[in-house]
Amino acid sequence: MTQRSAQARRAELIALYHELAEGHVCPLAATRTKVVFGTGHPDADLMFVGEAPGAHEDRQGKPFVGPAGKLLDRLLAGIDLDREDTFIANVLKCRPPGNRDPVPEEIEECEPYLLRQIDLIEPRVICTLGNFATKLLSGSPQGITKVHGRPQICRLGRRAVRLYPLFHPAAALRTEAVLSLLRQDFERLPGLLAEPPPAIAGEPNASAPASDPDGGGRIASSGRQVDSQLSPAEQLDLFS
Ligand code: URA
Repeated sequence: MTQRSAQARRAELIALYHELAEGHVCPLAATRTKVVFGTGHPDADLMFVGEAPGAHEDRQGKPFVGPAGKLLDRLLAGIDLDREDTFIANVLKCRPPGNRDPVPEEIEECEPYLLRQIDLIEPRVICTLGNFATKLLSGSPQGITKVHGRPQICRLGRRAVRLYPLFHPAAALRTEAVLSLLRQDFERLPGLLAEPPPAIAGEPNASAPASDPDGGGRIASSGRQVDSQLSPAEQLDLFS
């Protein structure tokens, strides 16, 4: 399988954003302010998937920019990462009124966009934040309390990916014991990112590093080809 360059991923993600914002008939369109597509590095090894935009995200059109996002930033800083090194998205791309839980029809409508984001970005590790993202991407009804901090290899679309379920930062802001567990789980992330690309027994390893079709890439500590031409200012941030 050929790997896309960071520029190609970025262009395809922007096209997907336009498709979502302009073409998608969303059940939440009447009540949302902005579509929250996701932001970050199109070539990220690490992706976070939360539940749905809240009031701050709905206003700014960016994920995790409220108190839960600030906690996510601090947790990332604790392992020497920055949100710009990652890609952050949600199960739902629009805010449910009053921050109510997503309903199955909304999840079903948005799922193809999330799967296409994952397919384009090709992350090695996806941290699912909370129950909704974890159950959707693991395909299992097991809740976050049972599965947090336990990496699992899943097939998502054409690729194997390490899913790493974590408590949602909003839950950690409410309960000190959850914050402590989230911190402990975060400490294992650098080790997971350093592991060889995940593979499913009997299947070719579709995420193994390949040569950059545009050339000039560098190999990240994880072994993934990263485009050295992409400055932080060129990160996918569709709204600033
Ligand atoms: N909670 C989420 O799940 N996603 C956001 O973007 C913000 C808060």
